[in-house]
Amino acid sequence: MARYTDPVCRLCRREGVKLFLKGERCYSDKCAIDRRAYPPGQHGQGRKRASEYGLQLREKQKARRVYGVLEKQFRAYYAEAARRKGITGDALLRMLEMRLDNVVFRLGFAASRAEARQLVKHGHFDVDGKRVDIPSYQIKVNQVVTVSEKSASSPRFKELLEAAESRTAPAWLERDIPTRQGKVLRVPAREEIDAPVTEQLIIEYYSR
Ligand code: SF4
Repeated sequence: MARYTDPVCRLCRREGVKLFLKGERCYSDKCAIDRRAYPPGQHGQGRKRASEYGLQLREKQKARRVYGVLEKQFRAYYAEAARRKGITGDALLRMLEMRLDNVVFRLGFAASRAEARQLVKHGHFDVDGKRVDIPSYQIKVNQVVTVSEKSASSPRFKELLEAAESRTAPAWLERDIPTRQGKVLRVPAREEIDAPVTEQLIIEYYSR
């Protein structure tokens, strides 16, 4: 499965906001956007105001980067969201939030979505008792995500579970750290999704 493998801090600098793509480093004074708060590249400090199209493009790119999804898959999410009843932007964000790698991250069982993706791919999580190693797997309401028993004793998971104590899980998830479990109570409402994106601009981008 393809994924973005180039340096990620430049993505935050390109979007002009912290996208929290590197876990602990994002909260330290090593964060690149704190040090160089301008877009990367030779012309980074000389770019002019973006056009309407430019704003829509940037918003779409930002959402893709936050959730670690490549263009083809993101477009497929949009197409599915547009098919669903209700507000397309809400449906799009909900589908992204219900990805297994995102749920693992939101539960605090990984320091970033990129780490969550890797841990899922390496088979460290069970969904309703069965191993699932597909990061894009769509979690359903009432499903339970568990750190597999074998993985829980690894030094990294001990660290992660300890760190999870200080991170609150969102209200749409129920988490129990001693049993290494998280349950999806409901689909998140728009106001519960704190991704820094204006989804209307994404819809306008794809509706051109
Ligand atoms: Fe973005 Fe984190 Fe890099 Fe800062 S450290 S620029 S928030 S990925």
